[in-house]
Amino acid sequence: MERGQEAKIDLKALRHNLKTVKSLGGGAVIAVVKADAYGHGAVEVSSAFEREGVLALAVAYASEARQLRGSGIKSPILVLFDEEPGPFFDLDLVPAVHSLKSARRFSREAVRRGRRIDVHVKVDTGMGRMGFPVSGDDRALKDIVEMASLPGLRVRGLMSHFAEARPGNLDFARLQLERFNSIRRQLAGRGITPLAHISSSASSFLLPEAGLDALRVGLLLYGVAPFSAPPGGPASGPAAFDLKPVMEVSTRIILIKRFGKGQPVSYDRTFVTARRSTIAVIPVGYADGYFRAFSNKACALVKGERVPVAGRVCMDVTMLDITGIKGVSEGDEAILLGAGLSGPELAGWAGTNAYEVMTSLGGGARRRFE
Ligand SMILES: *Cc1c(COP(=O)(O)O)cnc(C)c1O
Repeated sequence: MERGQEAKIDLKALRHNLKTVKSLGGGAVIAVVKADAYGHGAVEVSSAFEREGVLALAVAYASEARQLRGSGIKSPILVLFDEEPGPFFDLDLVPAVHSLKSARRFSREAVRRGRRIDVHVKVDTGMGRMGFPVSGDDRALKDIVEMASLPGLRVRGLMSHFAEARPGNLDFARLQLERFNSIRRQLAGRGITPLAHISSSASSFLLPEAGLDALRVGLLLYGVAPFSAPPGGPASGPAAFDLKPVMEVSTRIILIKRFGKGQPVSYDRTFVTARRSTIAVIPVGYADGYFRAFSNKACALVKGERVPVAGRVCMDVTMLDITGIKGVSEGDEAILLGAGLSGPELAGWAGTNAYEVMTSLGGGARRRFE
């Protein structure tokens, strides 16, 4: 038998979500497919986006773009974190450039190859991660103006990233947007008018004015609500945002055991049966991306019913308490994510976010595209 989990990827839902995201902004979407499309499978997901039409795809590293180009993806690809020049020319990629030093390297490489390269400039408006720091002085402005004059380089985009965008807590995002718009205006005053994009998933709903020339979005495309309920609506969950979950992760029960009362289950005996119990073993553990933090916390679905994880999640297997669920046999399905078990709910059980749930559970799964 095969270990681990299967992820069913609903490409129709993915296309629906892209439409929703397009309707949030002016229609221009940079679809983020880093980390194997958040565990959904970058090649198939990117092909679907390419057919539907996106302004560009975005990945973290050039190696991810290499896989996409190798699979025939023709769309522009923005690379968010990787600035080793060679692959950008070989694979026709667009770098997010984070410093003047890096800009000069791209320029030198372009001149050496007799080529030109389109780049996006990343400014750090408060994320504290990468990009030209934008603060009180005009250092960033000077650097970007100088960058725009480098031979072989075309500044086609200006981008930044929000550190925090939550309902009821938008002050810092507004400050970041103000800084971004300020540098944008100053560049425009010098005749530099690149495509401006700063908004990702949460801010697409919370700060529509940050939409600018494009939305650079991942999470929403995969059908996950960025926070519990949309502004102005009483309902919650993905449907309230007009999003459809894309990933369903399941496995098969490999063993069913019946225990009397008082039987400890799994390492450290953190779970002890409180009654006559039926325990199912599934071939998924933390080595498959099913977090150990789910121990005694998470639920799965068996025959449509919620069943709790019993005891510690092990490296290769996990036990579920299926006591009272009728007609379960070995070989039956256990759903770990989807069908009403949302990414944010699983994330809550493990003290993490839906991004980590999807990249871990989806990343470790065999995939089926529908
Ligand atoms: C991951 C990422 C995004 C997408 O964020 P979502 O919250 O998934 O929409 C956008 N921009 C940058 C720079 C990122 O790293």
